[in-house]
Amino acid sequence: MLEEFNNSQPDFVNQVKTSIIKNNNVSHAYLIETNSFSKSKELVIALAKILLCPNITNDNHEQNCRICNLIDNNNYPELITIEPEGNVIKKEQLLTLQNRLKTKSLTGSKRVYILFDADKLNITSANTILKFLEEPEEGIIAILVTENRYRVMETILSRCQILTLHTDMNNIDDLKKDKQYDVFWNIINKIELDGVQTLAYIQDLWYDKFLDKDECLNFLDLFETLYLDLLEHENDKDFLKKKYGQAINNIVNKIDTKNIIYKLRVIEEEKNKLRYNVNLKLWIDNFIIKITRGGEINA
Ligand SMILES: [Zn+2]
Repeated sequence: MLEEFNNSQPDFVNQVKTSIIKNNNVSHAYLIETNSFSKSKELVIALAKILLCPNITNDNHEQNCRICNLIDNNNYPELITIEPEGNVIKKEQLLTLQNRLKTKSLTGSKRVYILFDADKLNITSANTILKFLEEPEEGIIAILVTENRYRVMETILSRCQILTLHTDMNNIDDLKKDKQYDVFWNIINKIELDGVQTLAYIQDLWYDKFLDKDECLNFLDLFETLYLDLLEHENDKDFLKKKYGQAINNIVNKIDTKNIIYKLRVIEEEKNKLRYNVNLKLWIDNFIIKITRGGEINA
């Protein structure tokens, strides 16, 4: 079950083995931060099986376990999965969930619900889910899945146990192929090393290259990936150097967790603004000011 993730997600596997399997210490809500891990869906289902299949900790767990097969086919009544409809998880979907959970468990076992793309909750649905999380019911376990935790409201985060996955190493070459990659490093170095003094310089760099909304969004993804890596691999500089090469040398010793979290929040906020109709040049100015100010706070 978990073995298949031994190499790609050793931390996750260890955490689950120690807390859930060995110590039977089950949280009432998990938030899985996928960091674009390519097999995150399979991994989430594996976790659901561990939580739901009573045979799993048994050495004789059969290859062809009936319960696990039902889960794989999305046919197990005690597992409910929810995905966004259109681009949002609607309040109605959560009310339906709530009603289903009110009825008695069919098998007498635990029940699990999974919220994929948990960052796609709007304000009303986020409040609905918050109420569930605030008043957990015995035997009901929530698994929220999101690409990164900074997309999820803090009030929700604080009620979940967070399990973080690692980016796959093979995504890295794609990153380097990005045509914006060199400009990106130029800008990052300016932001991290020189801060606001070089505002005008950064504006020039940016104006020159991207005056299109999609390109800017794509560009923000690069920022986000880097800052998430800096946060997650703060103590693993070898990983960072392996992934980003020479480029990261200048900033790798300047990692400041508070500053990075501030920047990740700025990126999320600005991404949302960018999705609406904004004046792109004004938006770029505003983004640069906010993101370089993060560097200044800690100077
Ligand atoms: Zn099973």
